[in-house]
Amino acid sequence: MSKRALWLQNATVVTMNDDREVVEGDLLIEDGEIRAIGEIGAEEAEGAEVRDLSGHVVIPGFVQCHIHLCQTLMRNHADDMTLIDWLRGRIWPYEAALTAETLSVSAQVGLAELILGGTTAILDMGTVHHTDAIGEAVAESGIRAHIGKCMMDHGDRVPPPLNEDTDDSVRESLRLYETWDGAADGRIRYAFAPRFAVSCTEELLRRVGEASADLECPIHTHSSETEFENEFTREYYGLSNIAFLEEVGMTGGRSVFAHGVHVDDDDCRILADTRTTICHCPSSNLKLASGIANMPRYDEFGVPVALGADGAPCNNNLDAFVEMRLAALLQKPFHGPRAMPADRVLELATIDGARALGIDDETGSVEVGKSADLVVLRLDDDPGCGPGGELAARIVYSAQKHNVRQVYASGRQLVDDGELVGVDTERLMARARQAHHEVVERMESFIT
Ligand SMILES: [Zn+2]
Repeated sequence: MSKRALWLQNATVVTMNDDREVVEGDLLIEDGEIRAIGEIGAEEAEGAEVRDLSGHVVIPGFVQCHIHLCQTLMRNHADDMTLIDWLRGRIWPYEAALTAETLSVSAQVGLAELILGGTTAILDMGTVHHTDAIGEAVAESGIRAHIGKCMMDHGDRVPPPLNEDTDDSVRESLRLYETWDGAADGRIRYAFAPRFAVSCTEELLRRVGEASADLECPIHTHSSETEFENEFTREYYGLSNIAFLEEVGMTGGRSVFAHGVHVDDDDCRILADTRTTICHCPSSNLKLASGIANMPRYDEFGVPVALGADGAPCNNNLDAFVEMRLAALLQKPFHGPRAMPADRVLELATIDGARALGIDDETGSVEVGKSADLVVLRLDDDPGCGPGGELAARIVYSAQKHNVRQVYASGRQLVDDGELVGVDTERLMARARQAHHEVVERMESFIT
């Protein structure tokens, strides 16, 4: 057994495998991979570093399929607004003001928060420029991410730095794909990220659809978050937002559409037939008053679904526990108490997210041969989570990020005793305050 082996003993392991087994026992990790689960003999684990996890619960690292690491410095600066005012008055001026340095700090703060909360894989939408800074921050962080530069070649009142030429947008996306897809030992992948139909020309979206098919590269966009997007595509193209995205080649098994609040049955059929994933972002949808996505209907139609926190300014956390609890509770007044039970929501936040990103052979569940992307929870000594009860309910309804004691990604320990390993959090937040100050000052000139 190599020196990099780890023997985690006496845990309760929520595997999220096909049989949804919960195993009382040990985990053996070597070279970043899970080698054995259950009863492990001393001979098998000889030479491995031993950690006792008695009284702890191990779950797969969370997979969040809609994040904007670029927006973290704008947290608590864009509240209580409608989506379009929020974009024009705050988010676009802020993104226009970002430099490579301030974007890097934004990404590092976002990643720190995600990791402390047990998220080990994300689908991120960047801003228009400086996307390499996000790739570098993710590479350093240790987690898995699909990253993508935001593409915008159309729109009113868009600050000049964000308004791209169609060719430039596609060219830069392809350069980033070449640079980052498969980087950091395969932890980083690329995903084309046109912002939404309102910000993109039809030509851009068609070219993204073609490039995605040619390169087998995922697509990440926003769709049907507000009724305005349907009104827009109906006016210009005579189709609902989802039908339009289908028409221009943006749907498919490699596509993830954030939100999906304002859809009808025909839209659901398109999504199901094309295997397009809807990423549910409940906090963001409530805070921007966009509405509530009908998740039981997606399940009925067989539409693939996932979960995400969206960006810090519209949430204002990047916390999988908050999103899980809301995803479950939100549906119940409309569809009854059995809608979106805790075990279904836990799937959304783990294996369903991995499936949406096409990485379910690597992560999303705790299984032999998969990457050791694990979260260790301490529930038993927390008065808010005990004394016992059904495990999925404890995780989805009671647990909070302070219950995360350890996090491993590709076998590397990123959190120990609830603290980031190898990151000086105090220093990071001091840099973040400085970067925040700089960006807030610079963004004034981009507010229209
Ligand atoms: Zn978003």
